[in-house]
Amino acid sequence: MKHIAVLTSGGDAPGMNACIRAVVRTAAYRNIQVTGVVAGFEGLINGDFRDLDSTAVGNIIQKGGTILKTARSKQFMTPEGRAKAAENMRKAGIEGLVVIGGDGSFRGADILASEFPEFKVIGIPGTIDNDLYGTDFTIGYDTAINTVVDAVDNIRDTASSHNRLFFVEVMGRDAGLIALRSGIACGAEAILIPETKTHFDKLIAQLERGWKRQKSGHVIIVAEGDDAGGAFEIARIVQEKFDKLETKVAILGHIQRGGNPTCMDRVLATRLGYEATEALLFGQTRVMTGQVAGKVSFTPLQNAVKHNIDVNETIIKIAEIMAL
Ligand code: ATP
Repeated sequence: MKHIAVLTSGGDAPGMNACIRAVVRTAAYRNIQVTGVVAGFEGLINGDFRDLDSTAVGNIIQKGGTILKTARSKQFMTPEGRAKAAENMRKAGIEGLVVIGGDGSFRGADILASEFPEFKVIGIPGTIDNDLYGTDFTIGYDTAINTVVDAVDNIRDTASSHNRLFFVEVMGRDAGLIALRSGIACGAEAILIPETKTHFDKLIAQLERGWKRQKSGHVIIVAEGDDAGGAFEIARIVQEKFDKLETKVAILGHIQRGGNPTCMDRVLATRLGYEATEALLFGQTRVMTGQVAGKVSFTPLQNAVKHNIDVNETIIKIAEIMAL
């Protein structure tokens, strides 16, 4: 293999730039040409390519977002769109493709490789959601939860000063991993996630207990995909049954996606970028490069996206005990 391409796809995640850098510099070390594809699969279809060398990826390891831009591409969901992408890759002489993204991006990458086996395709988990099977952590997750922790610490200050009850909504349409981990780190009074049913009676009892022992403020973390609704809806229902504390809602939104990656995300991105590029050059295809129990592992893309990630029951129990 003499020429590979790299793209970022789906939601942006801090650490994607560190990963692009690692792919480019590993390829340079092996004297392999690298093409950067602008805006994910959309850029493959439009032939939006740029040459990347070691200099082009200087001074980006610390930056959030992605220098290659990212996109969600409807055209790539169609056989015609993917045929166009393959045609552009062929014309440019690209033989291998590194896809940095989440589950949707891996579904797309796997279909492309199944339809056009002449191209080798490898995935690197880049998403703040941490919802992929075959890696303990995805690139961007650590930064996102640290951003949430900083924000909730600030909210806690004002909650305590005014004796208020805050509902803080964090990202996680299908998975409560951001809510659970940041909730534990912030000492949340309750953590509401899509994986477990929200019981309002239990929640009210928890608030009553805290109120009786004169807690100065209450913070409840709500994953956006919780079964009882978003933070505003949950706050409304709670307020009807428990009116002892003034209630406020904060939606953290897109601040969770941006910002400089943490040390952990930079190192993970660099390691996975290196390992994925090496594996691609040595013939691996249709796998995701992950890290499990400190070791690099390769999981078929089909399996990486298929499994539901179980939340750890003990962690949920610990969170509940800490809030008693
Ligand atoms: P995140 O987890 O951060 O949202 P993601 O990679 O899951 O990232 P998606 O928007 O789900 O983000 O997917 C990115 C792109 O992958 C889609 O816009 C689409 O172009 C492509 N894609 C997703 N699913 C498929 C599919 N079944 N077939 C072909 N392409 C797909």
